[in-house]
Amino acid sequence: MSCDFKALATPGVQGLHPYLPGKPVEELERELGISDIVKLASNENPRGPGEQVRQAVSHVITDLSRYPDSNGFELKRALSQKFDIAENCITLGNGSNDVLDLLGRTFIRAGDEVIYSEYGFLVYALVTQAAEASAVVTPAKNYGHDLEAMAAAITERTRMIFVANPNNPTGTWLGEAELRAFLEKVPSHIIVVLDEAYTEYVALKDFPDGLKLLGEYPNLVVTRTFSKAYGLAAMRVGFAVANEAITDLLNRIRQPFNVNAIALAAAVAALNDEAYLTESVRLNREGMVQLEQGLAKLGLEWIPSAGNFLTVDMQQDAGPLYQALLHEGVIVRPVANYGLPNHLRISIGLPNENQRCLDALAKVLSA
Ligand SMILES: *Cc1c(COP(=O)(O)O)cnc(C)c1O
Repeated sequence: MSCDFKALATPGVQGLHPYLPGKPVEELERELGISDIVKLASNENPRGPGEQVRQAVSHVITDLSRYPDSNGFELKRALSQKFDIAENCITLGNGSNDVLDLLGRTFIRAGDEVIYSEYGFLVYALVTQAAEASAVVTPAKNYGHDLEAMAAAITERTRMIFVANPNNPTGTWLGEAELRAFLEKVPSHIIVVLDEAYTEYVALKDFPDGLKLLGEYPNLVVTRTFSKAYGLAAMRVGFAVANEAITDLLNRIRQPFNVNAIALAAAVAALNDEAYLTESVRLNREGMVQLEQGLAKLGLEWIPSAGNFLTVDMQQDAGPLYQALLHEGVIVRPVANYGLPNHLRISIGLPNENQRCLDALAKVLSA
C-alpha cells in the first residue's frame, strides 16, 4: 500500500514550487554532447577564485575532520572590521539564501502578509509560501520596485517586506532618498529585508548603503553574499546584519554549523583581497558596455541594470531562443517564471564569453 505523502506535508510545503536554477554546464554537456560551453545564467563571477582564496582553501583541506567554528569568529571579525559593524549584529548563512530562509522561519506565521514586488527575487515567494503566509505582490514600476505601492500595501497583517537593491532578475535599483522615504513609512514592528546581493557592483550617486541605515531603522535587516562580486558562489556564504535582538533570534534557529570550514576560510580570504573585488567590478563594467553595444547592434533593448547581468527583451517568446542558444553552447537564463516570457537574463562574463553570447544571439535571431 502506498501512502499519499504529499498529503502529510505541511500546507506550506505542499504549495511550494522548486526554485529553477541556471542549467549547469555539465548537464548541457551530457544532454547535447557538446563542449566549450559558456554559462551566463546564474550571475556568477566569471573569473574563478583569487590566489588568496585558493591558498586559504588548500590550508583548510588538511583539517577536515574537525567541525567548523559554529560562531564563525574569524569571518565575523573580518566583516566587523571591514564594514564597521558589531559582531553581535551579524548572522552567517549558507549563502544569503539561508539567511532569507532563517528570517522567514523566525518571523513569518501562517496567515501573515509578506510584501514583495512583481519581478522580485523568487526566493521571497518561496520563503513566504513555506511559512503559509499570504504573498502581497505589488505591481512593478518600470520593471523595478514601486516603493509607494509597497508602502500602501501595508496592513495590520503585514509581517515582513522584501526589497532587493539592485533587484534580480531586472537589475533595477533604488536611490537613497526614495529608500529612506519608504523606510520612514514602515511601522517599526514590520521587518524590512534589504537584499544587497549585488551592491558591490554599484557605483551610482545616491545609491544607498544599507549597512549605514541600520542605526536609524531598527526593523531593517540587510543581507549580503559572497556569491557574486566576491566570486564564491560554490562555497555558499552570505550574511545578515541587523540589530542585536533580531540577530540573537536568527542565531537561535540557525543550524549550529550552517557555514562549513572551507567556506568560512574562503570568505575571510576573499574579504581581505580588495584587488580581486576591484578587478571584478571593473571587468563587469567593461563587460556590461561590451554586451550593451553588441545588443544595440542586434536591435535589442534591455532593462538598465546596476548588477552583473542584463535582462534583454527578445521581442518574441524567449523560450525557443533559449533552446537555440543552448545548441550554440551558450547558457542564459529564461525568466518566464518571473512573468517575463519575452526576456532572457544574461550574466556578464569574460570578454570572450560575452562575444560568444553575442555571436550566438546574432545566429539564432537570424535563423
Ligand atoms: C544571487 C542572489 C542572492 C544570493 O544568493 P546566495 O544564496 O548568497 O548565493 C540573494 N539575493 C538575490 C537577489 C540574488 O540574486
